[in-house]
Parts: sequence; C-alpha cells; structure tokens
Amino acid sequence: MSGKQTFTMIKPDAVEKNYIGAILKQITEAGFRIKAMKYTKLSTEGAGKFYEVHKERPFYDELVEYMTSGPIVAAILEKDNAVADFRTLIGATNPEEAAEGTIRKLYAESISANAIHGSDSDENAAIEGNFFFSTLERF
Ligand code: UDP
Ligand code: MG
Repeated sequence: MSGKQTFTMIKPDAVEKNYIGAILKQITEAGFRIKAMKYTKLSTEGAGKFYEVHKERPFYDELVEYMTSGPIVAAILEKDNAVADFRTLIGATNPEEAAEGTIRKLYAESISANAIHGSDSDENAAIEGNFFFSTLERF
C-alpha cells in the first residue's frame, strides 16, 4: 500500500521569485495537508548529504551550489498516495517536459533550477523528512 507522506522543498529559484505563496496554494488545493514546515537555508555540507545519492552524477556540484544559493521552504506533506500524487503535481524534472499546469511547468526556469523537490519513494520521503524535522515539529 502507498504511504501517506511525502517531503518537499521549494527551491531557491522559486523562493527568490516570490512564488512561495502561489506554490503552497497549489499544493494545499491539491489536497495535501502540511504536517511540518520550515523556512531555512542548506549548508554546503547539508546539501551534499541530502543529495548524496547523486554524488556520482555530473550535475552534483552544480546542484549543491544552487541548493545553497538562498533560502528554501522544507515541508512534510500528508495525503493518500502522497509520493506519486505529488510527483504528478510537480511535473517532470525538466520544466520543458513538464505537463501543463504542473508546478515545474508554471514556476521552474531550468532543469537544475526547477522550483521544487518531491520525494521519489516512501522510503526516501521518510529519510528526507527526518533530515529536516524532529518529532516535536510535526503536527
Ligand atoms: N538536476 C540537474 N540536472 C540534471 C538532472 C537533475 O541539475 O540533469 C537537479 C534538479 O534540480 C533535480 C535534482 O538534480 O531536481 C535531483 O535530480 P532527480 O533526477 O532526482 O530529479 P527530481 O527527482 O528532482 O525530478
Ligand atoms: Mg529525485
């Protein structure tokens, strides 16, 4: 059975362009409930650890640099079938390939600065949520 939680970050490009409100509106209107949320900034060490699975990919250094370039909004979201439904809501990694109406199609500027993160599995949703939030920060 699919899990009820996913993890997201509104990335530095979208924060810089003042899209936090519009993106959160779209997320909550799609039926996701905010279980935890914070406005914060990743350190180089933190971003490197968060994206460790991509360490060998050619874009890793650029990704870490970009994700530490400004503040982000991190959140745990709750909904039935959360991981898959959220990936549908945000659209393809490359905004040029993202479906009409998706968050990346609407707000992303490039394949690296692509506005938003969404976990790719229940297991990673739990790992990523634990990276940012203690149990006391979840409601
Ligand atoms: N990324 C990039 N270049 C690429 C692929 C990915 O800069 O060719 C960045 C992009 O910000 C993406 C992140 O690395 O969101 C993680 O990549 P992944 O393949 O996990 O994409 P996602 O799950 O975010 O759609
Ligand atoms: Mg991914």
